[in-house]
Amino acid sequence: MKTFPGDEIYMDNNATTKVAPEVVEVMMPYLTDYYGNPSSMHVFGGQVAEGLKTAREQVARLVGADPEEIIFTSCGTESDSTAVLSALQVSADKRHIITTRVEHPAIKTLCENLEALTGHKHRVTRLKVDADGMIDMDEYAKALTEDTAIVSIMWANNETGVIFPVEEMARLAKERGVLFHTDAVQAVGKIPINLKESAIDFLSLSGHKLHAPKGVGVLYIRRGTPFVPFLAGGHQEKGRRGGTENVASIVGLGRACELAAEKLEEENTRVKALRDKLEHGLLSNVPRSMLNGHTTERLPNTANISFEYVEGESILLHMNRHNICASSGSACTSGSLEPSHVLRAMGVPFTAAHGSIRFSLSVYNTEEEVDFVVGKIPEIIESLRKMSPFWPGEET
Ligand SMILES: *Cc1c(COP(=O)(O)O)cnc(C)c1O
Repeated sequence: MKTFPGDEIYMDNNATTKVAPEVVEVMMPYLTDYYGNPSSMHVFGGQVAEGLKTAREQVARLVGADPEEIIFTSCGTESDSTAVLSALQVSADKRHIITTRVEHPAIKTLCENLEALTGHKHRVTRLKVDADGMIDMDEYAKALTEDTAIVSIMWANNETGVIFPVEEMARLAKERGVLFHTDAVQAVGKIPINLKESAIDFLSLSGHKLHAPKGVGVLYIRRGTPFVPFLAGGHQEKGRRGGTENVASIVGLGRACELAAEKLEEENTRVKALRDKLEHGLLSNVPRSMLNGHTTERLPNTANISFEYVEGESILLHMNRHNICASSGSACTSGSLEPSHVLRAMGVPFTAAHGSIRFSLSVYNTEEEVDFVVGKIPEIIESLRKMSPFWPGEET
């Protein structure tokens, strides 16, 4: 058996990504020689501030924003909370939030907590999704009311890769005078984004999902959007987010955004082709397997596949023996084996939701890896089904 790290077949890039070597390289000086505080008046601090300035420009370029519209945060979760809580404060008379049933816990849990807050009476509409994981635009249009403070809808789903038409949704919100936030953590670097041509007011992204380190994120705030900071403190980020900047990681994130722009084409050609090969290989070689999520409106790197009558966790354990890393659709994080809220919202049957595996690729994956996985998984599934008392056979 091979050992980690270095021998892993890493197909869990929606959970986190490898830090690109080019990113590590630009970070190193800020962890060694350039340790000044970017807010200091001396030249030594000023040199560090230059690093932040460059990073802000690099991030802005990737998403088609102005550098002044970019604030650095500690993670995607912080960016999500900041946007929603700000909107609720700037329009304190409005108490309604629109979101979806398939959001990441960063928005899902925040909304649950807001509803539970006593004395605040926040009302949350969670839009349904169909069997493809897609939203009904009519339901959305009807949900927008005078009382709506903010719409928060993810650009791409972390579990299925399904892409929502957030630009269209943001235009509709703008027409009704409602602020629009999108959690674009999974979309940035995988699909083209141009905020200048959109009506989106807030966008969240996270470093560790695009080959930068963990613990750094960005909130885009459209110029002119009323805003209340989440972290009050010093005048960092022009008073929009207190706290001394995580300079090395921010510099790394800037470089990662530059690389993502260069590799966007490869992501949508080579990586997508690898994903398709993996997907077709598994669906055609494993009986009673199915794809979860829209076939075309989907990120180029993600394939969420259900293998009926097997437990996702058991599949992962067997994959582990071959150093294959992926995720299951059961929320093992909560200590239970509840199928994910995303698959449940899509109406995926229990027997299929329990055996779902998310494969998420990156530019670091190779065709050999895909061939290896397509060769191994059918054996794994077959052996697990042989042991299952519930397996009804291929034909039923
Ligand atoms: C990973 C992720 C987040 C959270 O980002 P962190 O930087 O880990 O806090 C939020 N939303 C989506 C869609 C994600 O995939």
